[in-house]
Amino acid sequence: MKNIILFGPPGSGKGTQAVKLAEAFGLVHISTGDLFRYEMKNKTPLGQKAKAYMEKGQLVPDEVTIGMLNNKVESHPQANGFIFDGFPRTVAQAKALDEMLAAKGHSINALIALDVPDEEIVKRILLRGKTSGRPDDNDESVIRKRIDVYKSQTQPVYDYYDQNCKSHTILGMGSIEEIFGRLSELFREVLV
Ligand code: AMP
Repeated sequence: MKNIILFGPPGSGKGTQAVKLAEAFGLVHISTGDLFRYEMKNKTPLGQKAKAYMEKGQLVPDEVTIGMLNNKVESHPQANGFIFDGFPRTVAQAKALDEMLAAKGHSINALIALDVPDEEIVKRILLRGKTSGRPDDNDESVIRKRIDVYKSQTQPVYDYYDQNCKSHTILGMGSIEEIFGRLSELFREVLV
C-alpha cells in the first residue's frame, strides 16, 4: 500500500490536486475538511462539535479528528493506498497516523508540501469564498487565523517527516496543469 500526505497551507490547492492525483494513481483521497463539512451539513453530533472550531479557523481537537480519520481508512479495506489531504495537521495526528498504518504493516511513503506565499493564499481563498459557500472562506480575519494555525501547529509535521527524509516541497504557483505535472513527476518517484 502506498500512502502520500499532500501538505501545505489552506488555499494552496491540495484539494484540487488530490482529486486529480487520486484518479491518476489509483489511490483513495481522504480530506478531513470535506469529512467535517459533510458531518456539519447532516447536523450529526460530530458535525456539531466541529462547527465552532471551523468557523473560528481553529483546529478541531485531535481525538475527534483522529477517530474520524481512522473510521474512514477502515471503510476502504481494498485500497491500494491513500492521499491524505488536510491531515495530519498536528504532530500528535502524524504519530497516530503512523501507528495506525504500522499496525497494518504500512507506512507513509512521502509528504509533499505545496509552497504558496501568504498573500496569494488570502487572494485565492477570498475568490473561492464567492462560490464555496464556506463561512471560513469569506472572512479575511478567519483566513489569516488559519494561516497562523498552519504555521504554529501544522508546519512542525513537515519537520517530523523530514527526520526520515520523507518531506518534499513543490512550487504551488502556476496553472493547475503545471502544478499537477510537477506533483505527478514526484509521485512517480516516491511510489516506486
Ligand atoms: P480544510 O478544508 O482542510 O481547509 O479544513 C477546514 C477546517 O476543518 C479547518 O480550518 C479545521 O477547522 C478543520 N480541520 C480539517 N482537517 C483538520 C485536521 N486534520 N485537524 C483539525 N482540524 C481540521
